[in-house]
Amino acid sequence: MKIICIGRNYVDHAKELNNPLPEKPVFFFKPETSLVRRNRPFFYPDFSEEIHYETELVLKISKLGKNIQEKFAATYYDEIGIGIDFTARDIQRDCKKKGLPWEIAKAFDNSSPIGIFIPVTEFKDTKNINFHLQLNDKVVQNGNSGDMIFSFEAIIAYVSRFITLKNGDLIYTGTPAGVGPVKIGDKLEAYIEDKKLLSFFIK
Ligand code: ZN
Repeated sequence: MKIICIGRNYVDHAKELNNPLPEKPVFFFKPETSLVRRNRPFFYPDFSEEIHYETELVLKISKLGKNIQEKFAATYYDEIGIGIDFTARDIQRDCKKKGLPWEIAKAFDNSSPIGIFIPVTEFKDTKNINFHLQLNDKVVQNGNSGDMIFSFEAIIAYVSRFITLKNGDLIYTGTPAGVGPVKIGDKLEAYIEDKKLLSFFIK
């Protein structure tokens, strides 16, 4: 399986990092080895001094698809979850400055904690999903899927023009504003609506 991440998908987050708004979805990959499941801790890596959380809704792809039309895209995912796209912001900044790929800032081991998934059928409206992150019991990020620049369906249509989607692939759909650093000892809890789906410590 593969993990596809969308960058700059919320206006307020693109602005906080001084990035221009994209005309097409920006995407990159993380390997399966980046996943952390079952609320296991995130171990702060020794190669960065500025690890940022990015809280994102995550789609689970449910069937094989290539060149998926946007109007059919909703039938290609069957579960929605929430995850953290940990980013070594110091390394990413350096990569951007040099015009290099970001992989080492994004795709490292354990950089993608993932919570429990909810079947799509349990959502009244996938264009109006509230989610948030609590850092040490304080809300630090708040998002709504209706504020995405590119909808779930637009992302699936765009990505599948280039890359075949397969059953079990995950798509991290981008983070709203409020990203920030973590430190050892922090507790992170991610919610969709009022359901806590992910909870872990930084060690
Ligand atoms: Zn992200």
